[in-house]
Amino acid sequence: MLNPGPNFRRITCPQCRKGTIVLASTTARFQCSRLRQEADGFRSGHCGFATRDRAEIPVEPGERVTVVDFTPFAKLTTP
Ligand SMILES: [Zn+2]
Repeated sequence: MLNPGPNFRRITCPQCRKGTIVLASTTARFQCSRLRQEADGFRSGHCGFATRDRAEIPVEPGERVTVVDFTPFAKLTTP
């Protein structure tokens, strides 16, 4: 797995708390890795979290959302 450094962490989904936040390449949306999807009659995932606004992704104080290699991370900006 991509590991950009100690100040970065993957963001846990605020809605289901099981998935991680990923960036959808086709829609440029931030969404849960367990996002509810339906294609060709197959269903997968159970979560409804998706947003285009990275300000809607909750991170800890002192962190901000940043994208590395199309993967969203919470980056610690204060020591
Ligand atoms: Zn989720």
